[in-house]
Amino acid sequence: MIRYHLRCDHQHGFESWFRDSDAFDQQSHDGLVSCPACGSTAVSKSLMAPSVVTSRRKAAPSGPPTAAEPAPVALLDEKAQKLRAMMREVRQHVMTHSHDVGAAFPEEARKMHEGTVEPRAIRGEASVADVRSLIEDGIEIMPVPSLPDDRN
Ligand SMILES: [Zn+2]
Repeated sequence: MIRYHLRCDHQHGFESWFRDSDAFDQQSHDGLVSCPACGSTAVSKSLMAPSVVTSRRKAAPSGPPTAAEPAPVALLDEKAQKLRAMMREVRQHVMTHSHDVGAAFPEEARKMHEGTVEPRAIRGEASVADVRSLIEDGIEIMPVPSLPDDRN
């Protein structure tokens, strides 16, 4: 099973489980994946790498998302390459379509949540404590995948 972070065309983020990535593509194509907030079926995979469940183990405490899982040692197989390409794409998308507010990120995110500034895509820096506090207040944020050695 793969957990995808999804996003509808109204920018609602949500999560759903799929048997595999083909299942997501198929169900999405058939209009079977819909946003729980507005019912839109214009849903696309969102900005976080899917979590792949390979074995049964105790659920981790649901703290704030961390910026990146430790990279797998071997990146040579096809799946890893695909995942990597996807993360690169995502990262590129975020960089292109969001506004860098740097250290003001927690403050800006909160303002948007409270409606005192226009919602827009922003990125920036936040401490673990900031992230935790934002999530507790129901503010939707997500880490940008990092690719430490992403230079060709
Ligand atoms: Zn929606």
